[in-house]
Amino acid sequence: MKMFIQGESVDAEGAATFSVTNPATGEVVDSVPKGGREDAKKAIDAASNAFRIWSEKPLIERSRVLLKAAEIVRSEVENLATTLTLEQGKPLGEARSEINSFANTCEYYAGLIGRERGAQTPFSTGEGFFIVTKRPLGVVGAILPWNFPVSLMGWKVAPGLAAGNTFVVKPASTTPLTDIRVASLLVKAGLPPGAVNVVTGPGGVVGDELLESRKIAKIAFTGETATGKRIMEGSAKSIKRLTLELGGSDPMIVCDDADLELAVEGAAWGRFRNAGQSCTSVKRLFLFENIADVFIRRFVEKVKTIRVGNGLERSTHMGPIHTSEQREKVETMVEEAKGRGAKELVRGGRPPNQELSRGNFHTPTVLGDVDYEAQIAREECFGPALPIFIVRDLEEAIERANDTLYGLGSSVWTRNVERAYHAAERIEAGTTWVNSPPIARAEVPFGGFKQSGFGRELGIEGLDHYFETKSIQVLEYGKGKKWAFPIN
Ligand code: NDP
Repeated sequence: MKMFIQGESVDAEGAATFSVTNPATGEVVDSVPKGGREDAKKAIDAASNAFRIWSEKPLIERSRVLLKAAEIVRSEVENLATTLTLEQGKPLGEARSEINSFANTCEYYAGLIGRERGAQTPFSTGEGFFIVTKRPLGVVGAILPWNFPVSLMGWKVAPGLAAGNTFVVKPASTTPLTDIRVASLLVKAGLPPGAVNVVTGPGGVVGDELLESRKIAKIAFTGETATGKRIMEGSAKSIKRLTLELGGSDPMIVCDDADLELAVEGAAWGRFRNAGQSCTSVKRLFLFENIADVFIRRFVEKVKTIRVGNGLERSTHMGPIHTSEQREKVETMVEEAKGRGAKELVRGGRPPNQELSRGNFHTPTVLGDVDYEAQIAREECFGPALPIFIVRDLEEAIERANDTLYGLGSSVWTRNVERAYHAAERIEAGTTWVNSPPIARAEVPFGGFKQSGFGRELGIEGLDHYFETKSIQVLEYGKGKKWAFPIN
């Protein structure tokens, strides 16, 4: 597959390519151009030119293009989901739901744009009024991760396009294929060529051009916290606007009055969906001591029913880890925790079956008696391994939950509304789900506290991050001159 610049499929300047491999089999799925700075420059120029056209379009027309894009993407869901499973590894059902979520996000912002009302506000001193208007920023560089390549592209391009911006998308090098296809469908839906371009190539090269170019107004990034810090540094030279959605180490707190059946299901969904590779996966589970035994017994039974396999098989519940390096990171964290005394409540690891040996599979792992200083407790574990901690009460759970550099998601499970609200107020995280696993919704703002990033995606707030605020101050005719120079 080729890159997508100015509405056309193109090779890289240097004609070099790299392979995209299937994490379930190790087989090559396709190859894409190894783009460099020259390719990124072309895409930035295309997006700059398209900005003049797209930002002038009436809101109703932008809205129609987004609705049409959603319709076309939905009609292609099977093809797109298959490509996504092949390059990313997730089960087909999850891939379908990711493609549909892209369409949902387009529909949400198609509905939102043009529905906002502004106001003319009098000056407090009475001699005139002001109007606050919103202008699109210009060209946005969207740097995407590999865990949800399509839905996270939607979180950026749908509000950004609705607001009148144009894009250069840099997909993760291991998952560029579905993003390229979706970008071409946007043009099919009526988006001007050049309004969304996709440049494939190494993050450090294509990304550097996006960071350094004065024509890029904003970087919208999802990925690792360390990369986020580099992006912040790189953006400083030209004072780019930034939205950073970074890592998380989300706590899930189960109180002693919780519906345990629901909580067991929620913990399994929250940790093992997408093989545990979600920024808001449940990464630390806190159980009240008086329900811990019964919860653990039921949870262990549940986790043992999870079938690991190729995402294309209907019987698969959980696909492979995305890369062998990621699997090694998970294995290292589990071993380190065991070295500090952790017990394997569910022993996971590389599955013994020969047919899975070529993929990066890792069966679910559940650890008890985990040291709070273990890496798996302190860092982001991006895979199917879950440490469980036992706490006396809600105060201890909240204190432990907040003892992290991160602050993305969190959940509390209780039938008591006071407990739920108390926890939601105290937990330092961008979202607290009550009696629910982490599910993002187009209408709900999403983002992090602390080192999980800043800025918000989704919701009305997500749209606001694609605008510059402009104030127009008007002195009313005949209301008199309230200034004189020199000032006495
Ligand atoms: P990265 O943050 O390295 O990659 C995310 C994106 O950033 C990719 O498109 C990557 O390109 C690009 N990138 C990498 N380096 C630069 C740079 N210097 N300038 C600009 N762009 C750059 O994440 P990884 O894929 O390496 O995953 C590593 C860890 O990150 C995971 O173990 C997990 O902990 C965390 N992660 C968190 C996610 C989240 O949603 N919070 C999502 C994905 C990962 P390229 O692919 O070409 O390197």
